[in-house]
Amino acid sequence: MSVDGVRDDDAIGHLGRPTPPSVAAVCAGTGDGLVASAPSVCLAVLTADCASLALGSPEGVFGTVHAGWRGLVAGVVEEAVGAMRSLGASDVVGALGPCIHPGCYEFGQDDLDTVAAVYGDQVRGRTTTGRPALDLPAGVSAALAASGAEEVAGSSGCTACSDAYFSHRARGDTGRQALIVWAQAQPRP
Ligand SMILES: [Zn+2]
Repeated sequence: MSVDGVRDDDAIGHLGRPTPPSVAAVCAGTGDGLVASAPSVCLAVLTADCASLALGSPEGVFGTVHAGWRGLVAGVVEEAVGAMRSLGASDVVGALGPCIHPGCYEFGQDDLDTVAAVYGDQVRGRTTTGRPALDLPAGVSAALAASGAEEVAGSSGCTACSDAYFSHRARGDTGRQALIVWAQAQPRP
């Protein structure tokens, strides 16, 4: 199963819509997430500048999130972590995938105020030319903290200024990078 980040009008705000056994979709505005608790399931999220997030837990409950800034503000990270907990996850960890970084993400002041009202002034960044910018990785970090999850090392790559990634915003790329998450089956004793 996968979610992609190019839809702008997913105006639903519910979670726990069950699909195949042990898989649930999480939707919050323009953000999407998938959570699962089956080792036979592999989850993927497709992005080009928006944040992708891999989630895991010791219980083998795991998830993926696509979060643009609107989805982030709508609480998709917190909803995904909550959906994992409802499937039995205890200590949830999250790792950020490649996304656009503040140096390349000039942002309108009003929208920046909207994000900062939810996640604090840590989301206020500057572009490489000194313009107001959204620090999307800082926003994801704040959302993980708000949900009680621990952030672990992920990608530090900026999709907009690295040729290693697709960027919708910087280059109009139509390709997307995939973040794929699965649970390693426990070795048999
Ligand atoms: Zn950049």
